[in-house]
Amino acid sequence: MSKILIAEDNPVNRELLRELLEIRGHTVAEACDGEEALRVIEQTQPDLVLLDIGMPLLDGFGVIRKIRENPRFASMPVVALTA
Ligand SMILES: [Mg+2]
Repeated sequence: MSKILIAEDNPVNRELLRELLEIRGHTVAEACDGEEALRVIEQTQPDLVLLDIGMPLLDGFGVIRKIRENPRFASMPVVALTA
């Protein structure tokens, strides 16, 4: 099973994704803005990031840029989510 970060500012969307992933046995971490997403990535080194594009403080594009600049996370799988 995988460790998955949900980076999403909408709490309803976070909850839905969490339930879908946990039912399948995955471990879920959450972040509700782009800066928190970067902190949680540092702390938990997830196997996959589900990344909302529209988020406060730092949007999804900014998060991807930061992730790819860091050699430790340059190949981390990221799936961009947008309404
Ligand atoms: Mg959003």
